[in-house]
Amino acid sequence: MVSKDYIELENKYGAHNYHPLDVVIEKAQGVWVYDVDGKKYMDCLAAYSAVNQGHCHPRIVNAMKEQAEKVTLTSRAFRNSQLPLLYKDLVELTGFEMVLMMNSGAEAVETALKASRKWGYKIKGVEQNKAEIIVCTNNFAGRTITIISFSTEQQYKDGFGPLTEGFKIVEYGNIEELEKAITPNTVAFIVEPIQGEGGVVVPPEGYLKKAYEICKKNNVLFIADEIQSGLGRSGKLFAYEYEGIKPDAVTIGKALSGGLYPVSAMLASKELLGVFNPGDHGSTFGGNPLGAAVAREALKVLTDENLIEKSYELGEYFRDKLKAVNSKHVKEIRGKGLFIGVELHKEANGARRFCEALMEKGILCKETHENVIRFAPPLVITKEEIDWAMERIKDVLLMD
Ligand SMILES: *Cc1c(COP(=O)(O)O)cnc(C)c1O
Repeated sequence: MVSKDYIELENKYGAHNYHPLDVVIEKAQGVWVYDVDGKKYMDCLAAYSAVNQGHCHPRIVNAMKEQAEKVTLTSRAFRNSQLPLLYKDLVELTGFEMVLMMNSGAEAVETALKASRKWGYKIKGVEQNKAEIIVCTNNFAGRTITIISFSTEQQYKDGFGPLTEGFKIVEYGNIEELEKAITPNTVAFIVEPIQGEGGVVVPPEGYLKKAYEICKKNNVLFIADEIQSGLGRSGKLFAYEYEGIKPDAVTIGKALSGGLYPVSAMLASKELLGVFNPGDHGSTFGGNPLGAAVAREALKVLTDENLIEKSYELGEYFRDKLKAVNSKHVKEIRGKGLFIGVELHKEANGARRFCEALMEKGILCKETHENVIRFAPPLVITKEEIDWAMERIKDVLLMD
């Protein structure tokens, strides 16, 4: 079978809920992926930042194999010997007091929503069913019905009503709007410190800090969704560190497993995660020993290989190189660490054709929001590999 055959099968039998580039990947290592026809590509998307540690990292693969031969799933009806160790690693690494494990990012966000509401009723004293949660325009937090209920992307909601109530939307980066939206019933403000799916949007400097202070003043939980921006992607462990704040809770996922297995978590204070009692919330696979062993190794790789510092330094390097290209199509180059967005002018006719041209040259990227090309390679990328990529990116950005 060649690429065309796989694509035909997929298009015939699979729901068309994605519009992938026509590359059929068969294997991968580090920053490189190989298609079924033997062609090699540099992965500059890293599975939406789930493979920060690089594809098939040997240490993580090994941890997975070893655990798979011992025990993979116990359910939380019983305890297992990996989960407590993952809790400890997470608490020591991040400084949060408590952890709740789930699988997908959307589930971690749902967990944060449920915890916030319950905290609102049990601790803040909000009247039953009156809790409000504030979110931002252009947010992305997953695809469940509750989460799409507060999306500002019309397509995400179209045809999926009735939607979940209890959310207020304020403009991302706008402090005054946030301040005005808060009422005595507001329990939480959930924000991506850098918006990933929104197009690698970095808010104005000082925004997160001011937002945090306003939340504190009003007894509102400040929750950072770092499912994409976290775990080194932004050049810090968490992107909120750039503003010297410590949120009440953070959601993580994606790179938590280095891309080997769906593992996500909500991290928070004892006061907040303490609202859950046995039976309140759960997941069959959440906290399973296979995922826990994989996540423990994925976190160790992140620190042992200094991937967070590397992301910071190489991100600056990559952005400087991109800025030096001087393409007439480019409106703005932004981001932090190896989390880079190149926004094109409207006249460039969309980012998709640039991604297709990059693919021809052996670089895999995905357009986000029509006009943005996201460069977010695995953090194990080297300077030389960035130079290799830049030669090709330059040609593509300079095309007509
Ligand atoms: C990807 C993402 C999610 C959802 O994660 P899934 O694993 O796809 O459910 C939530 N929040 C942010 C910021 C994301 O980038």
